[in-house]
Amino acid sequence: MDKIKEAIEKSLGRPVDEKVWGVLQEEEYLDGSYSVGILLEEYKHYEKVAKRLTASSSAEGPVVGRVRRGKKRSGKSPRPDSLATVMCGLVHFSDYTIETLPEVKWQIGEKVHVYKDVDAVVGIPPVIVSANPKTVSGMPLDSIHETCLETDTLFEVLHLARNIDVLRGFSLETSKEISTSEVLDLCRKYGLLRFDVSGPVWMQHRKHGVLLNRGQGNLAYGLFALKWRFEVFRAVLSEQHDVVRDLVPDVWFRERFLKRGLSDEEALQVAKEWLCEGSTLRPITIFPTYDNQSDAFILTTSAPDILEACHVHLSLMLVGNGDLGRNLLVCQNPHCGRYFTGHGNAKYCPNCDRRTLWSRRKRNEERSAGNGKEARER
Ligand SMILES: [Zn+2]
Repeated sequence: MDKIKEAIEKSLGRPVDEKVWGVLQEEEYLDGSYSVGILLEEYKHYEKVAKRLTASSSAEGPVVGRVRRGKKRSGKSPRPDSLATVMCGLVHFSDYTIETLPEVKWQIGEKVHVYKDVDAVVGIPPVIVSANPKTVSGMPLDSIHETCLETDTLFEVLHLARNIDVLRGFSLETSKEISTSEVLDLCRKYGLLRFDVSGPVWMQHRKHGVLLNRGQGNLAYGLFALKWRFEVFRAVLSEQHDVVRDLVPDVWFRERFLKRGLSDEEALQVAKEWLCEGSTLRPITIFPTYDNQSDAFILTTSAPDILEACHVHLSLMLVGNGDLGRNLLVCQNPHCGRYFTGHGNAKYCPNCDRRTLWSRRKRNEERSAGNGKEARER
């Protein structure tokens, strides 16, 4: 028995979790009829299960009862109608700021591009450590917060880009159409939206961040490209041929190349192909997960950053062949205008929903009534 433990610890490169090991021993699991390789895999599986159990009991206590599929819930766990969720390993800093970097160099081939006074969204240390860190070969990556992102995140990010006019194309001006205070707010909610440890923000300035409007991987272009793809998707769904022709460069190219005009039907088809080919999506792995709160199976995939996660959600909307897109609504609150998915007669996004507004107002009333006492207790 101890020999098996020794062999497993050797392969793991660390001691086993004694509590997990103790349970496995009770079951006469290790009576010698399995090879060390199989036992190692089994051990890893149960260790994961144990971790999930401790994580859920420390975070929100045991799950008491569960909400059945189809019932309305207010929780933030995956909704059955979203089909899939995207896991993202996010880094949270104590706060975020916009910093102007005096100089940024970028080498493309032989040529070195130098940009002066470039704005970047930068995380202010210290990094907030995750209570339930992801582990790689047993080493906790405690700066990574595993976060489950849903379609709502796509709409939140698109909202940042609401003033970008994709028809005008991308320029330095584009970034002025993005509210930096909203970018910072979204960072505070989700962590740094995107960062690149091989880019100049880190390599030259030793800061964690993303360039706002210039250089590779800059945030403004990321938002522009996401909105572009989303607008084409919407135009395809509603068969707005004129918009399709304006937004999809492949239509223009083919017309020049073939020296003839494309019919509306052809243009639509070209746009559908562009929606897939124009994607920057990296290869992804997808696996099923079981969500015990909604009692549903959901496909889970992963993405390296939030913008990429948004592209995954958009791809999932495409694959749904419009099922999700047809429930796509625009919030009627003139101060909001956010996209959301809902049923035909819903007018307001979850953010502006009457119930949310009501509870927010009530909370404020309670706060002022209790002279702020209430607020402190929360
Ligand atoms: Zn709204």
